[in-house]
Amino acid sequence: VKGVHFAAIGLGLAFVGFLISLLAPSVAVAFQLLAILGVILAAGGSYVAHREFARLETFESAERNQLALLERQEQRHRDALDQFASGLDVLIFLTDAQTQVIYANEKAKTAFGGGEMVGQRVLSATLSTELEQLIQSAARSREMQRQEIAFHHPGERIGVAQVWGEPPGYDRFFVSIYDITDLRRLERVRRDFVANVSHELRTPMTTIRAMAETLQDDDPDSGELRVRYLDKIVREVDRLTHITSDLLTLSQAESASVSRAPVDLADSVRTSCHFLEQKARDKGLDLIAETPASLVAMVNESQFSQVIVNLIDNAISYTEKGSVTVRLTSDAAAARLEIQDTGIGIPPEHLPRIFERFYRVDKGRSRATGGTGLGLAIVRHIVESHGGRVGVTSELGKGTLFWVTLPLG
Ligand code: ADP
Repeated sequence: VKGVHFAAIGLGLAFVGFLISLLAPSVAVAFQLLAILGVILAAGGSYVAHREFARLETFESAERNQLALLERQEQRHRDALDQFASGLDVLIFLTDAQTQVIYANEKAKTAFGGGEMVGQRVLSATLSTELEQLIQSAARSREMQRQEIAFHHPGERIGVAQVWGEPPGYDRFFVSIYDITDLRRLERVRRDFVANVSHELRTPMTTIRAMAETLQDDDPDSGELRVRYLDKIVREVDRLTHITSDLLTLSQAESASVSRAPVDLADSVRTSCHFLEQKARDKGLDLIAETPASLVAMVNESQFSQVIVNLIDNAISYTEKGSVTVRLTSDAAAARLEIQDTGIGIPPEHLPRIFERFYRVDKGRSRATGGTGLGLAIVRHIVESHGGRVGVTSELGKGTLFWVTLPLG
């Protein structure tokens, strides 16, 4: 710094000038002048030094600001990447070549139990040797690896894992896992459904064929046998018709968005009871309807009639003596429909599954009453597609209560 040099020289001159002017009075004036010159030089030097220091400081603080700005920008990029990765519907992590986790997005942490994964080995974080081996194989081959893996920790999940390295060193590996558990479950449900439908259709068709063959071979004069077999054939064809029409109703309830209009549910309940009155009377049952004069809701009329009829029809079918009561009530938020019977009841272990397609507690009994096993599945789909809920409580040997709630307004 030049100013400091000038100031030091000035001070030196002033000191020497002052000293000599004291020691040698003969030349005092000249050295006093030198001392004054020194003082002026020192003053000028310190002024310049001060300016230079001020400039240096400004420069340094600008550099510091620049650095802080860069750090802030880098942090923002990191945060943005973090946000981006945590918003993805995919599990993502980054590991080193020894499969130690360097980064994991929120979804990955949640999927593997919610703990901190960073710093752990992939094996101890996921308990999946397959995933660890996939990373090792990507490290060996330096090529992207992809594999469907069944994870068992913390629950059973199926995912498609993809692993790729970071060139040129391949010392870091990206892992993405796409969860396909729901997809696989849906595929299984569809496979089971197709198998169930085929089975349900095959049984009556086998019976029809056997009856027809017997009739072919039979003594043409045996009129009584012909009538009996033909009766049975007609019943089985009715059964086939019933199954196919239920299947159609179910598929419509599942896929089509139906039109809705204000419907008086109290009227629908009364009409359905009227429709099934004869069936109840034939079994010696009382069919009781408890409804308000009117209760209007936005529903698809024909679908909702189907719900009411299915539930009352079941109640009558599975009740030997006593009564079936249909109750319709409402509060400010929802309408509630209850169908209570004094029938055989449902064993508790079956309750969680009775709304599944083709699920029946007693197959033989359901068939004898003309059931298809689809009635409650239809009920549930229609009610849920209207934003409502359906449920059941039952006591074996005493009776069953099915309820439906439907939001109003
Ligand atoms: P299904 O055509 O066999 O009646 P659903 O889907 O309507 O088929 O009902 C499924 C099963 O639930 C029936 O097979 C029956 O075992 C049981 N179930 C339904 N409603 C009642 C009820 N009110 N009382 C006793 N069991 C019932």
